[in-house]
Amino acid sequence: MNKLIEKAYKEEKFNIEEIIELLSFGDDDTQELFDSADYIRRKYVGDEIHLRGLIEFSNFCERNCYYCGLRKDNKKLSRYRLTPQEIINYSVKCEELGYRTVVLQSGEDSYYTVEILSNIIKEIKQKTNLAVTLCIGERNKYEYKRLFDAGADRYLLKFETSDPVLYYKLHPDLLYENRRKKILELKEIGYQIGSGIIVGLPGQTINSIAQDIIWFDELELDMIAIGPYVHHQETPLENIKFKDLSLVLKIIAITRIMTKDTLIPATTAISTLDIFNGRRRALEVGANVIMPNVIPPHLREKYQIYPKNKILLQEPESQKKEIETMITYIGRMIAKSRGDSYKRYPLYKNMIPQEVS
Ligand code: SF4
Repeated sequence: MNKLIEKAYKEEKFNIEEIIELLSFGDDDTQELFDSADYIRRKYVGDEIHLRGLIEFSNFCERNCYYCGLRKDNKKLSRYRLTPQEIINYSVKCEELGYRTVVLQSGEDSYYTVEILSNIIKEIKQKTNLAVTLCIGERNKYEYKRLFDAGADRYLLKFETSDPVLYYKLHPDLLYENRRKKILELKEIGYQIGSGIIVGLPGQTINSIAQDIIWFDELELDMIAIGPYVHHQETPLENIKFKDLSLVLKIIAITRIMTKDTLIPATTAISTLDIFNGRRRALEVGANVIMPNVIPPHLREKYQIYPKNKILLQEPESQKKEIETMITYIGRMIAKSRGDSYKRYPLYKNMIPQEVS
């Protein structure tokens, strides 16, 4: 057995040179890497898979990230915003579908003031027992605190890449220094924190991905999202394509081994690399979360961070059925708890359904 795989089974952490070596593994060693990640996943977070209902409530964005179809200069995109009442109604539906968390996601859209968002969160909390995750980009610390006080439990803010040169090349109107700072602010306020990266960005190196994984560990994140770059024809990167599913799976596996008890989603973006097996394969190498959509296909089609494959645009009910079938097929089970951070609620507690006051 490769000495690094032995190290994984001994639950020792890797240094950056070792991560670079793991990312460069050939096929034979890669399967051993995947097996060791699955072993660590089972030991630290069990067989449960957490389902989070996703509501993409606005595709307006004031930023211009080069890889993203929601960028404000994409004039061809038909934009939509859900009303507060619609967001609340879809959240109720999210609970009716059996999900215990709702993820409210949008582009950076200041139309939704902190007052509007706080009222939405408060009403969701009154009408449901859902945990609320926000994924609405950069706001100031005061706003983060107000939203937390209104009842938001978790916040997802990807740092995208730890490489400053690459970050500045791809984010013309965002500051590299801000990203880590904001993640730390959110932590200080008390949110459970999710962050993550995009894999396959033009100019990204194996060394910078290894550094990303070191950051995952340093930041002690509760949730880590690793998604591939998917090209969108209405962006400055229209000609850049990325298809290396194996690299994405290796990063998930190494992240599981390094961070042990984090929540790691099998993202929908992974399905764009292998439409029928992408998410399943992610679940088999360390992932333990899926985020099914709750809004109808005609809206989801317009939430084009990347273009959506028609096969992925199902009605929420049939999407849920398909996910349940896949989970049963791989011998795992759907969690009954809210799926709070394992760092705060260790495995044995997280498996007991918790009532939310
Ligand atoms: Fe906006 Fe986020 Fe897309 Fe950047 S990545 S353009 S902030 S939605």
